[in-house]
Amino acid sequence: MSAPEEAPYTGRFAPSPTGPLHFGSLMAAVASYLDARCNDGRWLVRIEDIDPPREQAGADSDILRMLEAYRFEWDGPVIYQSTSADEHLAALKELDRAGLTYRCNCSRRDLADAPQSSLGAIYPGTCRSRDVVGEAAVRVRTGNESITFEDRLQGLVQHRLESESGDFIVLRRDGLIAYQLAVVVDDRLQGVTHIVRGIDLMDSTPRQIYLQGCLDAPVPSYAHIPVAQHSDGAKLSKATGAAPITAENAGPTLVAALSALQQRPPDDLSASGLDGIWSWAQENWSIARLVGLQNIAVQHYC
Ligand code: GLU
Repeated sequence: MSAPEEAPYTGRFAPSPTGPLHFGSLMAAVASYLDARCNDGRWLVRIEDIDPPREQAGADSDILRMLEAYRFEWDGPVIYQSTSADEHLAALKELDRAGLTYRCNCSRRDLADAPQSSLGAIYPGTCRSRDVVGEAAVRVRTGNESITFEDRLQGLVQHRLESESGDFIVLRRDGLIAYQLAVVVDDRLQGVTHIVRGIDLMDSTPRQIYLQGCLDAPVPSYAHIPVAQHSDGAKLSKATGAAPITAENAGPTLVAALSALQQRPPDDLSASGLDGIWSWAQENWSIARLVGLQNIAVQHYC
């Protein structure tokens, strides 16, 4: 008799086209890619283009060009999240039908004094029992049962949404679908089983697991990798002046990303060229080296 089959590993890298790739996003791409490849998994690239006001023209092709220059190899065509708009709306309707949604017209100002938790501002439920007319966002009703998951790197994470985040937005007031709902719908649609991403997104995970429960979607495995920081402690991001990565420096930059990911590449690895670097990385990948790490100071990364 053969052993029971496990769900095949499907991972993904899901950048928003809000600007070019910087070193922090390269780390997330490298970690999710190597983890998929070392588990004989598939690795998808999904451009999360559902927030036009935050997007930068041409950022999607810049990101893809850079992934190609670093010789990432993804499975299947690049997926644009905007193409699953019908599925996003169908999921919203499913939440509606289950009586889990309500309209909310609270303004930013109305919520300015809302209490905060580690998950962010806590929505006080102002519109839960109001009849809201006109332009409004849609929120999903949360409960206070505990949402628990075992992160492969950060250990046991436990939150109660009603008291720590309150009901959260699934359709924005401007009519755009919210990230929390879109990401859950697309991960299910694409059969994603393993999510490896930056720890800055870990606050969102309990909301996503809650939505997976409401929509009867499987809960993937999560690994939240430490975030790269400037030496002064600020997160490496476009907002803090992180420079975009460049194709010219791909080899040394990739080695620096492996080093930031605690893989201890040999000093002369850059000399092996991109193919040599990738084969060393695939042979030596150990996600366990990141267990418990929440941030990594990087000074010179290329
Ligand atoms: N699109 C998100 C970002 O670029 C990442 C989404 C995810 O990995 O769940 O921050």
